[in-house]
Amino acid sequence: MSLTDHLLARIAHDGPITVADYMTECLLHPTHGYYTTRDPLGTQGDFITAPEVSQMFGELIGLSLAQSWLNQGHPDHFVLAELGPGRGTLMADILRATRSVPGFHDAVEVLLLEASPTLQNLQAQTLKDYAPHWIDSVADLPESPLFLVANEFFDALPIRQFLRDGDSWRERLIGVEDGALAYGLGPRVPQIALKHRLDDTQNGDLVELCAAAIPIITVIAGRIGTHGGAGLIVDYGDWHSLGDTFQALKAHERAYPLAAPGQSDLTAHVDFEPLALAARAAGCAYTRLTPQGVFLERLGISTRAQALAAPLGGSELDTLVSAHRRLTHPDEMGNLFKVLGLYPSPSSPPPGLEP
Ligand code: SAH
Repeated sequence: MSLTDHLLARIAHDGPITVADYMTECLLHPTHGYYTTRDPLGTQGDFITAPEVSQMFGELIGLSLAQSWLNQGHPDHFVLAELGPGRGTLMADILRATRSVPGFHDAVEVLLLEASPTLQNLQAQTLKDYAPHWIDSVADLPESPLFLVANEFFDALPIRQFLRDGDSWRERLIGVEDGALAYGLGPRVPQIALKHRLDDTQNGDLVELCAAAIPIITVIAGRIGTHGGAGLIVDYGDWHSLGDTFQALKAHERAYPLAAPGQSDLTAHVDFEPLALAARAAGCAYTRLTPQGVFLERLGISTRAQALAAPLGGSELDTLVSAHRRLTHPDEMGNLFKVLGLYPSPSSPPPGLEP
């Protein structure tokens, strides 16, 4: 049975489903899911991420985390964790860049959270020198200092969408029309979780809610607040999103999200404010939301690019120059992508970010 047939049958049986249910089925269905069945990254895949653009991204993240570890008295055992590690490239770059930090590798335990067996296999190959372990949930993170990175993880978590109708909301649902998947709207409901959005929206506005992110941030922030550490959450989005950001990407092109379930990457912009508030409620401080380009420049990406460029010429040099531009320029990833840092309140924020 194809994923489309499975969804049509599910809707016929249960009625229209939420966008969140649709995302979960499309991305993580055990046999047809987008992430569960393939490696979607890179020029041959559907999209490319910052660590796949250049090693500089992971190196600078690694130095920021290692400096936080030093600033916090270099605990002799800590967890270095990544959520949604893709091909393992970012973690490999972090670990390579921190080899020269005395004691860091002796103290590190590498933990990965990855839903896709295909990508877990790739991560195992890329990171075989570092004996990583996989956890099934952030609840399995041990009670120890936690240094964590998540790049383009939260944008893959399922969101629900609500259209404002007076002082109530109607949920955008996915049902069936003429035998095909189609959008519709649920009944008017007050939605307590959206009460604060009545202040900054108007009738007819659409807002998004990512409920799945909150328990994840709560656990991470609890570990960092209690045991020390730092978190770097990098993603596209803003403090407060407004409007429909649900999108599908296939072969680097935008696609209609309902057209080919399980065949394209589905994401939504990350709303950072609820993450920051959940972190604070769990006892952890958060930094100002900072554009990726600013963050990388503060960490010295231009100096690093010059060092890497020195021996290069021709097309290799062109590739490096364009990677630097791609990661930092406001017209490319520099402004769309943001960084939110988490840290224990008595310490200083991770380098590259400010309170
Ligand atoms: N961080 C990587 C990959 C980003 S793609 C990079 O920057 O290149 C999103 C990653 O999150 C993939 O590894 C995907 O399989 C994983 N992922 C998506 N939803 C997940 C979930 N609910 N639980 C665990 N991993 C998930």
